[in-house]
Formats: sequence, C-alpha cells, structure tokens
Amino acid sequence: MPDGDAEDRVLIAGGGPVGLICALRLSQAGIPVTVFEQEKKILDDPRAATTHPATLEMLEELGIEREVESAGLVAVEFRFWDRPTGELIASFDHGLLADETRFPYVVQCEQFKTSKIVLDKLSAFPECRVLYSHKVTAVRQTKHQVAVTIECPDGIGTFTGRFLIGADGSRSIVRKAMDIEFEGFTYPERFLVLTTPSDFAADRQYVYRNYLADPTEWCNLFKVSGDGPPGLWRAVFPTRVDESDEEALSDVSVQGRLQKFFPKSSDYEITHRNLYVTHQRVAANFVKDRVLLAGDAAHVNNPIGGMGLNGGIHDAMNLVEKLTPIWKGTASIEELARYNLQRRTTAIRFVQAQTVQNKKRLEEKDRNIREANLKELRDIASDPGRAKEFLMGTAMLTSVRDAAKLG
Ligand SMILES: Cc1cc2nc3c(=O)[nH]c(=O)nc-3n(C[C@H](O)[C@H](O)[C@H](O)COP(=O)(O)OP(=O)(O)OC[C@H]3O[C@@H](n4cnc5c(N)ncnc54)[C@H](O)[C@@H]3O)c2cc1C
Repeated sequence: MPDGDAEDRVLIAGGGPVGLICALRLSQAGIPVTVFEQEKKILDDPRAATTHPATLEMLEELGIEREVESAGLVAVEFRFWDRPTGELIASFDHGLLADETRFPYVVQCEQFKTSKIVLDKLSAFPECRVLYSHKVTAVRQTKHQVAVTIECPDGIGTFTGRFLIGADGSRSIVRKAMDIEFEGFTYPERFLVLTTPSDFAADRQYVYRNYLADPTEWCNLFKVSGDGPPGLWRAVFPTRVDESDEEALSDVSVQGRLQKFFPKSSDYEITHRNLYVTHQRVAANFVKDRVLLAGDAAHVNNPIGGMGLNGGIHDAMNLVEKLTPIWKGTASIEELARYNLQRRTTAIRFVQAQTVQNKKRLEEKDRNIREANLKELRDIASDPGRAKEFLMGTAMLTSVRDAAKLG
C-alpha cells in the first residue's frame, strides 16, 4: 500500500450516511476528499428511516431529495396511541407546515438506501475517493496537517490531509484519539427492532409512523418500503433490563411481544430481529483544531422521534458550509468554532432534550403524570396553532433555524 498519500484534501473517517453526505457536499464545493470505511460495503441493518422536513430541504440542496423520496414512503401523518386501552390519543398532520417548507411530510427511507444514492452521486467526482475495507486506527495532527493510520487488505499506511472529519459512528476512534469526552449516559435496557411484512394498517388505523405509550412496555411502529410493495413494518420495543440478548431475540419472546400488542391468529413472519444498546451522549467538543466530529461520532440519542441521523445530516451541511470558505482562504480556521457552537448547542438543547422527553412520555408509569401527558398531546393536536408549533419541533425546522442564529 502506498505510504503517505500526502495530498491537500479533506479526510473522512467513516462511510456511513453522514460521512458520505459530507463527502458529497465537499465534492460539490470542489474540495478533494478521501473517505475511509472499515466495512467492505454499505451495511443494510435496519436503523434510520425517518427523514424529517428540515432534512429533506437539505437533501434537495444536495440534489438527491427526489431519489430519496422515490426510494421511500411519504408519511404525512404520525399518531400517538394509548396501548393499554387501544385509544388513538393524537394525530399530527404535516400539512400544517405547508407554508413553512416545500416538504410538509416525512420520507421513510432506510438509511442504507440514502447512502447508496449518495455513493452513486459521488462517482461523478474524480477527486473523491471512497476506500472500503480501510480502517482508521490512529490519528495525529500538526498545525497544518492531519495524518491517519489506515489498516487495509494491502497492509498498514498513512494518509495525510488538511482536515479530518470523524464520521465514524458512536464508538468513534477519531473522538477517542482526540481524547474528547462523550458525555451522557447509556440506557440499561436495549432496543429491540423487529421487522415483518405483516400489514398493520390493514385492519387498524395505524399510519406509517405510530408511537404507542404503555407503562409496562412501549412500542414504536413504522412502515418502510423494503424491496418494494407491500413494504415492511418495523416494531421497536424496550427489552427488560434483566433480559439476556438470547431471550430477547428468541422466537418465543419475539412472537410474544408482537402478539401482546397486535394479536393475530397465526405467527408473525420475521424478516429481521436486531438489538441495539442506546445512549444519550454528546461529545464535549465537536472541533479539535483540524479534527472535526459529525453524526453519531458527535452525538447519540434514542431513536424515538427519529432524530439521530437527521441531526447528523444537519451537522454535515453546517460543517461543510463553514469549511468551504476556510479551504478557499476566505475565512479563518476560527470559523469552525461556530460549527461547534451551533451544532453542539442544538444537539444538547434540542435533540437530547426532545428524545429523552419522547421516551419518558411513552414509558411513564405514574398514573397522574401519564394522564397529564396524554391529555397534553390531545390538547395540542386539537389546536391548529399549537399543533403547528409542535410539528415545527418534530420536523426539526425550529432547531435548524434557531441554530443558524447562534454566534
Ligand atoms: C433502531 C434505530 C432506529 C433509528 N432510526 C432513526 C431514524 O428513524 N431517524 C434518524 O434520524 N436516526 C435514526 N437512528 C439513528 C441513526 O441510525 C444514526 O444516527 C446514523 O446511523 C448515524 O450515521 P453516521 O454516519 O454518523 O454513523 P454510522 O451509521 O454508525 O456510520 C459510521 C460508519 O463509520 C464506519 N467506521 C467506524 N469506525 C471506523 C474506523 N475506525 N475506520 C473506518 N470506518 C469506520 C462504520 O463502519 C460505519 O459505516 C436510528 C438508530 C437505531 C439504532
């Protein structure tokens, strides 16, 4: 393997959706990029699907919104349910945002499909290299340069660039190499994701996005397009704290969980069963000189409300907006402090706060608080002014607009 790819370029650790979107935005700005991805190809595990209006606006700027929308499902509404009684508590319609955004809806598109669309677009940029089976194992920086050590099938080598973006996920080696704290906590329970072709909308009023509150075991229920019609449904449940991975993933437990929520006479066909450890954490700094963090490397949260990847895409757009004039010599490197201020503040004040609250609302055990929470949702949904404000938050439009005003 050639040692010392000493070129003037931006290096990106991690070819997940955030790393690839950083690469596309940089390439569109005429900046040479190398992406290092440890896997052999894009993985298709069932993680993000919900793409909010604020993000669809950014995907449009990137020139990929139409393709993402056609690869996914358009979800205009989402609903809250009281699981023990089966009562529909509140229904929120993104149509209320029609005068705020060109995209008054959510697109349910699996993240690996978005990544594939971005990767395809990157092939039009000869100065962009995406290197699979290339694992970043160490990082060091000087005043003018960043160097990464790479392990790949040809051996071990070093690549250098002017900046490094750590988009290498929650266990980010870049963040660790920079000795940046990942502040927050890890939930004791894990999140179980079950994927099935069973059609939940057929005889119930479920829409493509549903949140079911239950003091003993909450559930999120979503539809994704899968390999095409009729599509797939994903149900997300918390495990019990004392439940082993084997037990949670066993046929008995998987069927039991689904049957408890959505009884039917036969067994469910299960396409995927996945368990995720879930955290609420934010890096103490998103910038260390020439090393920048984005996406899950910078912040992680529970998936209720679908905000993790959306926030990562918002990081990518904000970061490249700051990096481009620095690269072109029309802004100083200090401009990166605004990236940290805007995106870190948003991650803490909005995404962390909102996702923690989303989970509490679904799992609340105290009868009075639970009743008050459900009443509040009913009241908000029945008042168009309040419902619009609520949707501006869930659609992540408020957080993106507020971030732009910081600094
Ligand atoms: C069940 C579940 C449901 C979710 N639903 C949603 C949702 O609906 N909406 C939403 O917005 N978010 C959702 N999320 C969160 C979302 O999946 C993540 O926020 C998203 O994957 C972050 O993208 P990323 O590119 O930052 O990190 P990742 O997707 O983790 O990608 C990081 C990449 O870096 C690579 N890598 C890691 N270490 C190295 C290394 N040392 N060298 C080279 N490469 C490396 C990895 O192989 C990986 O490809 C969900 C998460 C879960 C678990």
